[in-house]
Amino acid sequence: MRQYCQTRIDLHVHSTASDGVLSPSEVVCLALEQGLHAMALTDHDTVGGVAEALEAAAGTALEVIPGVEINSEGDWGDLHFLGYYVDCANGALQERLTVVRDARLGRAYAMVKRLGELGMPLEWERVRALASGESVGRPHVARALLERGYVQTLQEAFDRYIGNDGPAYVPRLRLSPPEVIHAILDAGGVPVLAHPAYSGAAIVARIPEFAALGLRGLEVYYPGHTPQDVEVLLNLCRQLGLLATGGSDFHGLGHGEGAFLGSVDVPARCLDDLRAACCARQVPVRPAAGRA
Ligand code: AMP
Ligand code: ZN
Ligand code: FE
Ligand code: FE
Repeated sequence: MRQYCQTRIDLHVHSTASDGVLSPSEVVCLALEQGLHAMALTDHDTVGGVAEALEAAAGTALEVIPGVEINSEGDWGDLHFLGYYVDCANGALQERLTVVRDARLGRAYAMVKRLGELGMPLEWERVRALASGESVGRPHVARALLERGYVQTLQEAFDRYIGNDGPAYVPRLRLSPPEVIHAILDAGGVPVLAHPAYSGAAIVARIPEFAALGLRGLEVYYPGHTPQDVEVLLNLCRQLGLLATGGSDFHGLGHGEGAFLGSVDVPARCLDDLRAACCARQVPVRPAAGRA
């Protein structure tokens, strides 16, 4: 039987502000039902859901941590950075995220166009409606494909058409790792590399480089990470003085990557270290020794 930590936390959660299926307040209700003590809302390229989540959790036993997942790709690979405790009102961050989201719109439109060329016309307005929040992503395109009956499951949409190697795939805006890391740091946040082992060995190999650029942590505990991945990443945390985090990458049952809310065992110490890193932004983060 799975061992539950006394303090249950989930530091990687999506809502309808990006490509999750539950609104921020619905996610908060579910987190309370699941007995979570803390949850970070980390929507793709937006902090638009954070205020609603904070409000929904006010006066409850749940702590909501403001967060964001900033995606980027390019010669260095498909990178996902989590930014914890960012100041959601930070002007430079808001501007940067607006540029990224605008690019997402153009990219989703281009994918819809390619799907049309492949014999699967979709109504752009429908894709826009499915993306009720600020950030449009592939899951919204996948849902439109499913609705029109071009695929039988969301997974099939990725496997056949819009996965990274698919014929209708269009890359996201190219942001460099220093750009993302500094945008998070400048907004008072703690930059953490999301699911490094799941992203691939080439990205894990570049972790020392990212640490030198100001990265503060690694998402060690993740549904797609094997026990060996966890060990490798914890060793890297110790060597490089990075903190460890973890979460489910919940998008909604059967929607997108990740697992059910709160289903990943994340040691409570991860949150203590994250808080300490936030309070001591200019001070190097303590190594993760003995943290597993
Ligand atoms: P985007 O940021 O628009 O590229 O979309 C990324 C999101 O699409 C991820 O967070 C997942 O929710 C989903 N996703 C990406 N790749 C896959 C895949 N191969 N299978 C299922 N969902 C995926
Ligand atoms: Zn997603
Ligand atoms: Fe991700
Ligand atoms: Fe995610």
